[in-house]
Amino acid sequence: MNNFLNFKIVGSGPTGLLLAITLSKLNFNIYLTDLLTREKLINKDKTYAITHSTRKILSKFNLWYKLKPYLYKFDSLSISDSVTSDFTILTTSDLDRDISSLDSIGWIVKHSDLMNVFFHEIDKMDNVFFKSSFDSSFENINFDYKFISTGANSNYKKYPKYIDLKKSYNQSCLTFEVLVRGNIPRRAYEIFRKEGPLALLPLDANRYQIIWTASTSKSIDRLNSSKSFLLDNLSTIIPEYFQLDQINSEINIFPVSLSLCLPIFDFSKELFVGDSLHTFHPVGGQGLNTCWRDVNVIYDILKSNVSKSKKGLIVFKYRFYFYRFFDIFSTMIITDSLIKIFANNNQLLLPLRKISFLFLNKFLLIRRIILNHMTKSLIFSSIK
Ligand SMILES: Cc1cc2nc3c(=O)[nH]c(=O)nc-3n(C[C@H](O)[C@H](O)[C@H](O)COP(=O)(O)OP(=O)(O)OC[C@H]3O[C@@H](n4cnc5c(N)ncnc54)[C@H](O)[C@@H]3O)c2cc1C
Repeated sequence: MNNFLNFKIVGSGPTGLLLAITLSKLNFNIYLTDLLTREKLINKDKTYAITHSTRKILSKFNLWYKLKPYLYKFDSLSISDSVTSDFTILTTSDLDRDISSLDSIGWIVKHSDLMNVFFHEIDKMDNVFFKSSFDSSFENINFDYKFISTGANSNYKKYPKYIDLKKSYNQSCLTFEVLVRGNIPRRAYEIFRKEGPLALLPLDANRYQIIWTASTSKSIDRLNSSKSFLLDNLSTIIPEYFQLDQINSEINIFPVSLSLCLPIFDFSKELFVGDSLHTFHPVGGQGLNTCWRDVNVIYDILKSNVSKSKKGLIVFKYRFYFYRFFDIFSTMIITDSLIKIFANNNQLLLPLRKISFLFLNKFLLIRRIILNHMTKSLIFSSIK
């Protein structure tokens, strides 16, 4: 047993909490902190898309069936290009055989449900200790390793031993819930528009979560406009059969960027994980799924023989980067390319856009590769 090792996790968002739960299963002592109280951490109005790679990870840690009552599944995905008017509809029959029987391309979950399930799990563990920074933050403990999961705008990234590679898209996402009629049940939408992608994520029968990307200035204007103006505006750009009844939640805005925070000559025992390590454009809904694949690799490395001692922790960080490199890098390239190609009005790119949809509609193999990469992550990183 390893219970002589003490790990600190700074930041208790979805990444920090899953990391605490998984590492506690290896009998380490976990000290979890956040600037926010537990109540504030739970009560955020966010919604995440969850893929099969996440289902696999949560199942491995016996969390999937606990989260399942709070998940909204979707079994078809419409991808369209509003500039060329091309579209394709991907269904569960485009999935690989090992997952098609689950009858779901992906799931949608509300942040508060997710955090409640995770905190409930942590409450049952006697080797996980949570404090918000309003309390003294575990001052007298010697930590063997520190994980930094402080999110996209982490202050830790400003230390000179890290290099924060960042590309701003000058875009922001508006996100809110709408009540609709006339919709096709359990169908999600990704609509490419010249201002940026618009995602419609199905919750229950008549509720959808909107993730609407546009330039930051336009998003702020929309945020400041009335709900009825926003609804009218939205109804002109979504499929005709949708009838929007009302906005059913707060309207939130978050900036989008592509970033990667890497150490330079850093041999300290601390590691960035989740959004503090990498951020992507939300197109394709990969964000949180990628954060949790970081967690899965950390668990696998620490579980393996190499890192069961303090000595093993020295090489730990480099093993982590090795195993995570391809997944993070490919997600960066794919999301960034999608925005470069589909979020503009460049006439030179129109033939490429048309050919992409032509191939998607004509060749089952291409549909299968794309859909399975999105949901299973074909470069799924695991050290096993
Ligand atoms: C306003 C907003 C809305 C979003 N909405 C959506 C959405 O609808 N759908 C979607 O897919 N993605 C959304 N995202 C992105 C998504 O939230 C992230 O991909 C995901 O939360 C990453 O999880 P994380 O745990 O790595 O980081 P975070 O969820 O950002 O968690 C980081 C935690 O670290 C804490 N922290 C920061 N600094 C310190 C410090 N110095 N000491 C201690 N704790 C600290 C913060 O309080 C926070 O709780 C949104 C992001 C933002 C900012």
